[in-house]
Amino acid sequence: MEKKQNEISVLLGYAGKYKALTFLGMFLSAVAMVMGMVPYVCIWLAARDLIRVAPDWTQATEIAKYGWMAFGFAFGGIIVYFAALMCTHLAAFRTAANIRKQGVAHLMKTPLGFFDDNASGFLRNRLDGGAAETETLLAHNLADIVGTAAMFIGMLVLMFLFDWRMGAACLVAAVISVAAMFTMMGGKNAKLMMEYQTAQDVMSKAGTEYVRGIPVVKVFQQTVYSFKAFKAAIEDYSNKAEKYTGGVCRVPQSVNLTATEGVFIFLVPAVLLIAPSALSGGDFAGFVTNFAFYAVFSAIVSTALARIMFAASGLMLAKTALARIDTVMSAPTLTVADHPKTPRDNGVEFKDVTFTYDGAELPALERVSFKVLPGQTVALVGPSGGGKTTAASLIPRFWDVSSGSVEVGGVNVKEIDPHVLTDRVAFVFQNTRLFKTTVLENVRAARPEATREEVLSALHAAQCDDIIEKLPNGIDTVIGSNGTYLSGGEQQRVALARAILKNAPIIVLDEATAFADPENEALIQKALKTLTEGRTVVMIAHRLSTVVGADNIVVLDHGHIVEEGRHEALACGGGQYERMWKEYNQAVKWKIASGKEGA
Ligand code: ADP
Ligand code: MG
Repeated sequence: MEKKQNEISVLLGYAGKYKALTFLGMFLSAVAMVMGMVPYVCIWLAARDLIRVAPDWTQATEIAKYGWMAFGFAFGGIIVYFAALMCTHLAAFRTAANIRKQGVAHLMKTPLGFFDDNASGFLRNRLDGGAAETETLLAHNLADIVGTAAMFIGMLVLMFLFDWRMGAACLVAAVISVAAMFTMMGGKNAKLMMEYQTAQDVMSKAGTEYVRGIPVVKVFQQTVYSFKAFKAAIEDYSNKAEKYTGGVCRVPQSVNLTATEGVFIFLVPAVLLIAPSALSGGDFAGFVTNFAFYAVFSAIVSTALARIMFAASGLMLAKTALARIDTVMSAPTLTVADHPKTPRDNGVEFKDVTFTYDGAELPALERVSFKVLPGQTVALVGPSGGGKTTAASLIPRFWDVSSGSVEVGGVNVKEIDPHVLTDRVAFVFQNTRLFKTTVLENVRAARPEATREEVLSALHAAQCDDIIEKLPNGIDTVIGSNGTYLSGGEQQRVALARAILKNAPIIVLDEATAFADPENEALIQKALKTLTEGRTVVMIAHRLSTVVGADNIVVLDHGHIVEEGRHEALACGGGQYERMWKEYNQAVKWKIASGKEGA
């Protein structure tokens, strides 16, 4: 119970200044519920008067008054409840907006690398979905929970106000119903319920996978095997569902519904028991009045119990919603220095850097040190998984080192103002994606204030003239719509134009391994030359031909530097680089040979 309160207070924390409105809504809802119970009292009063004057009904002069009173309170209760919902809805929308704003603000401070592991669509989904789910809780459930509590207290008071024995009979029904509800959701049944809900999630995911896999299934003519995972998920779900609904819920739910709907079943025997003594006491009128009251009143018990069910499920929803929001809010953030320092020059230095990915056992980089002087080009080479991409991502702070430091211009990147660092470092990674907007905007993303002419000249420098020519609206063509898709090599060139426009003094490059065609490749080499000229460059090279001229080559294997030096020295150094270089030349020879054959 304490945990649930915490969750609600977390939610109200997001409400900010709209918290008061939520509380007002909750209060009004309680008032509305209490007002809604007054008509029952009016019924009792009317019944009492009628029975007292029977059979001369004309003497019951107050009846009309009670009727109007009942109407007034019932109607007033509805109006007040509307007002309550108005308050809570207003607060709920603001709170959901606040959650979205705070979530996005939080993500702005998150290291970029975080988005590699958590696709941005997934994060948006979590945040949006979570925020939307809190709306229901804040707009309806909270007010209803408070209203239900007020109603419940009112119900208890009324139960014992007129005749405690009949009240107790009604209460027995309530107790049985609540107890049945708890058996379904508590104890070891809670685990079964969780399993059942998890199986449902798994099934819907497997369904999506299956639909996505249909092209593969068609191409490879697979049949039964492709169904396997999906079929297993469905069967698992149906087993769990049967186990939970059939094994756990059948009896308690039947008991629960019977008790809530059949309060009468308990009232009638109680009345029969009381009747002899009540009648011999002589207060016949009082007895009948009370019975009339409780007979009508039992209906309210059902309503109150049904409301408790809804309130409980509302709380459960809120729990999952908050957990969703929490995955976003608890994303790691980059620390920002209070007194940022300015880099002295455009050199880059790794000092004893160790970095371990979250959840990984071994470090991706271990005690790596190397230096790039301003204007120099350093190449990172080595086998796949050696740690090249990781090292490159530490420079623009996609991640922060676990120990050691990465320095730009003699200053630890953690102490540089993030904006200054962003301005200084341009990166082109293999998986650079273009936004679904015009070419112009895609390139301009690097420097929003750039003019159209500047964008055009950056595109020209990046050898993109042919791309623009073939697009229907030139640089104003929206990429990715109406069949205007660019090939991998073409996208890479647009990404290079973006980096060129940025005009940053430090360039971090992860060279793509496979370009579609030689023509693209030649153009990309040209664009790269423009981009890197006169700048500090850290490049990851997959084709060794591009690293021959580098000022320094760092060979990374299993997160360690195994060799370092210029090409001339390493190529006959007897180490890993020499082997790689020989293999590379062999591969090139084969290519040339097969090319001749084909010609
Ligand atoms: P390279 O670029 O040289 O091929 P990487 O830097 O990509 O190597 O990878 C180095 C090591 O870190 C590998 O063992 C890889 O599995 C691991 N790794 C890379 N990216 C992640 C990530 N986002 N989360 C966890 N481990 C990662
Ligand atoms: Mg890599």
